[in-house]
Amino acid sequence: MSVETDFEVPYPRFGSEFGDEELEVLRDLLTSEKGLSQGPWRDRFEAGFREHVGSAHAYAVTSGTVALQLAVNLLDLRPGDEVIAVPQTYQATIQPLLALQVDVRFCDIDRNSLNIDVDQLETMITERTRAVLLVHYGGLPAEMNRVMELSRRHGFLVVEDAAHALGAEYCGRPPGSLADIACFSFHSTKNITTLGEGGMITFDRDEWAERVLRWRGNECDGDYRVTEPGRKTLKEVPHALYPGLAYTHDCAGIRHVGTNATLSEPASAIGLIQLGKLPMLTARRTWTAHQLDRTLKGLPGVRVQSVPPDVRHAYHLYTFFVDRGAGIDRDAVVAKLRELGVESWLRYFPLHLLPEWRARGHLPGECPVAEKIWFEQQINLPCQPTLTDVQVKRMRGALEEVLLSATG
Ligand SMILES: *Cc1c(COP(=O)(O)O)cnc(C)c1O
Repeated sequence: MSVETDFEVPYPRFGSEFGDEELEVLRDLLTSEKGLSQGPWRDRFEAGFREHVGSAHAYAVTSGTVALQLAVNLLDLRPGDEVIAVPQTYQATIQPLLALQVDVRFCDIDRNSLNIDVDQLETMITERTRAVLLVHYGGLPAEMNRVMELSRRHGFLVVEDAAHALGAEYCGRPPGSLADIACFSFHSTKNITTLGEGGMITFDRDEWAERVLRWRGNECDGDYRVTEPGRKTLKEVPHALYPGLAYTHDCAGIRHVGTNATLSEPASAIGLIQLGKLPMLTARRTWTAHQLDRTLKGLPGVRVQSVPPDVRHAYHLYTFFVDRGAGIDRDAVVAKLRELGVESWLRYFPLHLLPEWRARGHLPGECPVAEKIWFEQQINLPCQPTLTDVQVKRMRGALEEVLLSATG
């Protein structure tokens, strides 16, 4: 039972679980006089993450949103460039694009996975296409083999928003190494959490590493060059008080001013422990999802997600669909489930219809599948690993009761 809601089966505010290991490491950190800002735990968390996703680089930052901002920085987009994005995701996936003079085009989604519709993507690519921003919706990986084949053929970069996808697998590989850049979130609701907020960016390109480190560490993401010979450096300026002070590089231009976006020691330590628990946490989510599938599959006017054989779903979200054509009023179903103690949230409002995107000329009708799914069909149920057998049973009973009487 949640302390924040009266629902018997609440939608998660916290999507993971902490135990003695986390408490011990926190006690140790908080009672020592070790620094709590950047330090060895962050390095260990990053190393563990690189190993988990199989990427050459992983940098821990303060949120998934910050990781995505950083990813967009690395794309080096110019005015007039075209970016293709998905509408069915959290707004942070594409928000940084609003600050740029780029043409954003929304690609509709597949009605089963709610991931990018690769057939449509293929028709949208032009010679101006510089990047594709996509999500592994709810933890079900997008069709990355096809997307990356298009990316190689047409020379655009791909960012995977893997905020939902920790614990997932695609053709034997985890999200995080399937595209050019991947971004993760450790927000309280995500499959693992670093004390409520946190994120990670992963990629293989070595030349991006220095840019990320500078930007995250309060230096500029700029064009730094070794100081030209013969030019006076601070070291050459006589300065008795600060003899060691020297800058060996000149800045020839700034791409992005830096910030402090590094993940703290307590958060990083918790992240590393949580990463170790990921298989167990994913197994519990998967068990609940399969229980829900079993109940829902037999009900009229109801559709569940199908998962391809070479894919493992991370079940950050459990999503199913009701059919208005069969007479089912989605909003009435949601309301009745709430009356029976089952809380559900709808995720996510189609981004192209948000005020800020409409202000850039986007309109209803642009992504008909995403719109129909959101306005008529989708329901997201709780599937956090802390659900008890009793809660899952309760949810199955409520679904049966509500949906059997819903077709009219
Ligand atoms: C949670 C989430 C983010 C943002 O992550 P924060 O850590 O909350 O900033 C980005 N994209 C998706 C798809 C998310 O679910």
